[in-house]
Amino acid sequence: MNSPRHPITGKLSSRTLLTLGAAISFCLLLGWLAYRIFGDIYLNSERQLARQRLDALALSLEATLSRNESLPGLLALDPSLSALLHQPDSEQRITAANAYLEAAQQGAAVSAAFLIDAHGKTLAASNWRQGRSFVGHNYGFRPYFVDAINNGLGRFYGVGVTTGEPGYFLAAPVRDGQQALGVIALKVGLEAIEQALAGAGETLFLVDADGVIFLSPDRLLRYHTLAPLSDTAAARLGDTRQYGRQAITPLSTLPLALDRIEPVRLALPGEAPRDVLLTTRPVGSLGWQLVQLGDPGEAHSIALGSALATGFACAFLLGLAAHVRHRQRRRDELRRIHGQLEQRIAERTVDLTGKIAALERTEAILRETRNSAVQAGKLAVLGQMSAGITHELNQPLAALQTFADNASALLERGRHAEVAENLAMISDLIERTGRIVRQLKTFSRKESSVPQAVTVKTAIEHALMIIEPRRRELMATISIPPIAEDLQALAEPGRLEQILVNLMRNGLDAMSDQPAAHLEISTTVQGGRITIEVRDHGQGISDEVQAHLFEPFYTTKTASDGLGLGLSISLTIAESYGGTLGAHNAPEGGAIFTLTLNAPPPIHPNQHTAHEA
Ligand code: ADP
Repeated sequence: MNSPRHPITGKLSSRTLLTLGAAISFCLLLGWLAYRIFGDIYLNSERQLARQRLDALALSLEATLSRNESLPGLLALDPSLSALLHQPDSEQRITAANAYLEAAQQGAAVSAAFLIDAHGKTLAASNWRQGRSFVGHNYGFRPYFVDAINNGLGRFYGVGVTTGEPGYFLAAPVRDGQQALGVIALKVGLEAIEQALAGAGETLFLVDADGVIFLSPDRLLRYHTLAPLSDTAAARLGDTRQYGRQAITPLSTLPLALDRIEPVRLALPGEAPRDVLLTTRPVGSLGWQLVQLGDPGEAHSIALGSALATGFACAFLLGLAAHVRHRQRRRDELRRIHGQLEQRIAERTVDLTGKIAALERTEAILRETRNSAVQAGKLAVLGQMSAGITHELNQPLAALQTFADNASALLERGRHAEVAENLAMISDLIERTGRIVRQLKTFSRKESSVPQAVTVKTAIEHALMIIEPRRRELMATISIPPIAEDLQALAEPGRLEQILVNLMRNGLDAMSDQPAAHLEISTTVQGGRITIEVRDHGQGISDEVQAHLFEPFYTTKTASDGLGLGLSISLTIAESYGGTLGAHNAPEGGAIFTLTLNAPPPIHPNQHTAHEA
């Protein structure tokens, strides 16, 4: 499995670091894009709202401005004005013009109405009674005067030269025929507009064609420009005294286009420089602009929030994808390992199946070999016995011959009593030979392997009979303590005798070089087990022999004396009855072979009775 960490140092691999770096960069990029997109969307919607607000305000502003537009032309028609202009020194005409202008001012609800002669001098005014009356002042330098004379209508916003109060000036020529005798001017206060701007809830103001803020509910903003004033504009403002002697200071040191979309940095009076969002809309015919200052901070926060959300979402999704991929890889890896394991198990299974089959074959061969060996062992014993048997049978046969000859001779002589004696002897001899033949038959028969109750004493006696020739040959003595007649073991008669013959013969063989060979055979019963011990006084069993004692074909004897099958067959037979066969050396010398067999199960009394019946 590919681990992202180094197996020893635990450090992240450079590939993982690279992927991590790429993922972080990708998330940062997405965050930045989200910042830009959401910021723009929010700014656009803000600007849209501002534009709608400015449109509404501009329309009502233009309506206010245009409402009074035709007034000066109408008022100029009054003959009292042209009369005064014809005779400027006539007190009577001055009074009449003043009265007319006063009435007109009140009737039209404007700040002031006044009459200027062709040289710019004010001849009469609605405020003629007030201390700071316009009368006598020259306004020939004011643009509204110049425009009225030249173009028939003068419009101008400025600070009153006399009153110091700002106002919107509208002017129209007073004509006599085609000749302009003078100008009638109206000063309109824009307080209503100012209130409307204040009520909008945003920072709203009006700038003139030069960019000077001239109308703003925030008095501190007045007479500032958004950007530095051009030299010509500054000179013109000085000439027209549009804003009196006010110093005009810029809020930004950089030139600034009002249609800028991006936020601009402004140093508003009494505030630290900050970014503001400019929205503008032209108003009226004097090149004025309605301006709203918006706060881009909210858009910034929203954009930042969106950027963070996008960045984190991206990181989360990438993390999730990485996690899913890692799990998928792990699952694949596990599946692969599982597959490998299964394959290995399958291979091992095939391997083991083969081995088991081989083992079973070997076991079958062994079983077969053992069975054959048991038989071979019997034959071997038979071979060894044949000499003894011939001897055993020859002797009674010779005796039989003698007794039979004697009997016929005695019969001829009529010695009947002696004939009967001879016949009895013949009968004994026949019985003895029969016993030997029976024994041989039992031994060589291939019996069915069904254990049964075998009388131990009989088995031992039969075995003794078989080894008798050998015993006699060695002039050995055999001692057997009395054995209970009813002592029985679970075995088969012939095979038990075969084991006993093997043990006894081996014991005698071990003492073949001793002048007074002595074999001891004993039986004990303990806990349902019958133990038969065969003890000799030979050289005992060496460690080397002990290691191979029960192996088939292991023998220390010459080929004619031993096949090395006796003990191996004996052990197999004993174990087939659930018994054991073991050997050890006696402390005082010689070997002790111990055969242990199960006692037969007790016969049920009913069974017994039924059998007897
Ligand atoms: P065999 O008698 O044909 O050699 P066995 O299987 O009966 O085959 O015995 C194997 C060997 O065990 C013998 O060759 C002998 O070396 C050893 N052995 C058996 N019985 C005795 C004994 N009573 N004392 C010493 N050695 C013995």
